[in-house]
Amino acid sequence: MSVRVRLAPSPTGKLHIGTARTAVFNWLFARHQGGTFVLRIEDTDLERSRSEYTQNILDGLTWLGLTWDEGPFYQSQRLELYQQKVQDLLDQGLAYRAYDTPEELDAMREAQKANNQAPRYDNRHRDLTPEQEAAFLAEGRKPVIRFKIDNDREIAWNDLVRGTVSWKGRDLGGDMVIARAAESDQVGQPLYNFVVVVDDIDMQISHVIRGEDHIGNTPKQILLYEALGASVPEFGHTPLILNQAGAKLSKRDGVTSISDFQNMGYTAEGLVNYMTLLGWSPPEGMNEIFSLEEAAQQFGFERVNKAGAKFDWDKLNWINSQYLHHMPIDQLTDRLIPVWQAAGYEVAPTDQAWLEQLTALVAPSLARLEEAVPMTRYLFVADVGFTEAATAQLQLDNVATALQGIITALEATPSLTAENVQDVIQAGMKAANVKKGVVMKSLRAALTGDLQGPDLVQSWLLLNQHQMDLPRLRQALAVAESKA
Ligand code: GLU
Repeated sequence: MSVRVRLAPSPTGKLHIGTARTAVFNWLFARHQGGTFVLRIEDTDLERSRSEYTQNILDGLTWLGLTWDEGPFYQSQRLELYQQKVQDLLDQGLAYRAYDTPEELDAMREAQKANNQAPRYDNRHRDLTPEQEAAFLAEGRKPVIRFKIDNDREIAWNDLVRGTVSWKGRDLGGDMVIARAAESDQVGQPLYNFVVVVDDIDMQISHVIRGEDHIGNTPKQILLYEALGASVPEFGHTPLILNQAGAKLSKRDGVTSISDFQNMGYTAEGLVNYMTLLGWSPPEGMNEIFSLEEAAQQFGFERVNKAGAKFDWDKLNWINSQYLHHMPIDQLTDRLIPVWQAAGYEVAPTDQAWLEQLTALVAPSLARLEEAVPMTRYLFVADVGFTEAATAQLQLDNVATALQGIITALEATPSLTAENVQDVIQAGMKAANVKKGVVMKSLRAALTGDLQGPDLVQSWLLLNQHQMDLPRLRQALAVAESKA
């Protein structure tokens, strides 16, 4: 049997990290098995589905490198098939029309609550006579369609992650609604548990790999496979991603969508590597830094954990930094250019050599691409502004004199190099008769506006190449001289 898996996101929000991690496991399993990865957009909920979310999901998966082999298929375009299948179940007597009003259902649940019973549909319309149906219709009621669930059934499957899972029919909430209310001669909008099974059968899905939050749907779906006369696929329910408090990671935890991680400056490679580790342990001896292809060679469900996986920012940052630190400088530069541009920095395409030097300067300190924006601001803006600490440094005794000495020497040294820069520094020391440490600290304050940052001499050389150092030093001198 050929392996066919699918990702079935609902476009009711941006691509969530949990869905993306499910996509990772599906992708890895498909690649490992030489199988097919199908993408299906579950957009039957017309009120909550939006095309911009579909686009966000497609873009996110593409960015992460989780390419699909078939699809995207859209459930909204397959309504007729679902309605036909509902009709088949009706015709076989496996489903029926139920005419309960919302008020009646509420009253039923209230009564169950009062008796300390779990809420469930009590199957009261399972065996209506034609006369009873006609009477309900005469009242103007619109029926839903319910699928019969045998209370005495025991449903079990061998989960790829969790081993044997079994469920009792009586715990499934009674006969389940598979299509929304409609006129009695029509089939209303079919619902999730039903359409997912129709599609998984139609798309010949061999392994349903999805988040643990769907585990309660699986027994109902197994019954539907049987009713539809199809063989039941394998199921694997992957552990949820948890927040620091151990609860399911949700929108309330802040950043949870893939495009947000992208905007924060994570690399696709780093993020996908981290997501793989959220729930999967690589075999002994395998490096924690790996590509999707490398992980696919090793991937199997025996190394997927049952327990939820805690989201760990430090680990993500560390993994991402490994990608940034080891990326060839020209490639990293290409990734930083749009980040700098988005920050409003003027980046000239003719400036590749300068940009690459700059990239090399900051690369070792980067965990995220975005961090390059504040880190390099002093190299892009004309008016850097001096922090309080930098201002205090500039206003120490003798600093103005040292800066004046540096400015004079620099004016006579139009093109600064790693060698002649030392002479300019010496000139500053001599002019004010101060130690090198004082001059270097003051130079950092003057050139970068702050007391810490990337290598000072390299920074200066870069400023010099853009003729930004003299104006900056003159601004700093003004600050130094403005001391009260
Ligand atoms: N549309 C469902 C979701 O987004 C997919 C469930 C499934 O994989 O069966 O959660």
